[in-house]
Amino acid sequence: MKTYKLGKAVRNYRHHKVGTCTVCGRLTIFFCLDQGSFRNTMICLFCRSAARNRHVAKAILGIVDRGAKSIADLHAKGDVTIYNTATDDCFSRVLRNYDGYFSSCYKEGLDPGTEISPRTSCQNIEALTYPDNSFDFVVSEDVFEHVRHPEKGFREIFRVLRPGGYHVFTVPFHFDRPTLVRVDTTGDDDIHLLPPEYHGDPLRGTILAYRTFGIDLFDQLNGIGFETRVDFSSFADRNCGILDSSVFVSRKER
Ligand SMILES: [Zn+2]
Repeated sequence: MKTYKLGKAVRNYRHHKVGTCTVCGRLTIFFCLDQGSFRNTMICLFCRSAARNRHVAKAILGIVDRGAKSIADLHAKGDVTIYNTATDDCFSRVLRNYDGYFSSCYKEGLDPGTEISPRTSCQNIEALTYPDNSFDFVVSEDVFEHVRHPEKGFREIFRVLRPGGYHVFTVPFHFDRPTLVRVDTTGDDDIHLLPPEYHGDPLRGTILAYRTFGIDLFDQLNGIGFETRVDFSSFADRNCGILDSSVFVSRKER
């Protein structure tokens, strides 16, 4: 753990928890690095997953439901295919050598579809290069608020999912309001309707948030053919270091 993170871990020691990680499967300590965002912290000592990563893992495991207690256990399942729209995260760390695991990132100047490493490629989420009906699961965490035309992205994920497959995702969300549109993207150029909001991004440093999704998202997903539910973290989830988190589970109906 880097020195600055060690300092945060010491300052927040009262909020650390011991439990079992749904990503790496190990009995571990979840380190609280920021009391203001349990969702993005509670970092697993071994796989460096945050609470929201483990919540996504829990949602996938609840669907696979064949004895797998962690994402790492999927190696033994062999027949589950997952596409993660991020790379170099905890899922990639535990599934790097799993034949059914694919990941991507977007790099300016690289043609979409270009392979960066085995089963990792450059992808534009609005125009994926994967064939139809390729995956059992697609995972995206805090990605779609940064997609300029999210409907195109959701339709692409629908296309590459197998019938009965799931898009498991997180986004900042207003459960009591419609979508807050921050940027008008109907033309070629962005027109800012609100002061620009940028989020941290591991590849680009910061990245523009085009919107904060709200309840109309459910109708949008339904119109594409998804049936969507939301899993909210519960008291029991604390044993897996999952706090203050919600995960969307969209099923591609047959
Ligand atoms: Zn872990």
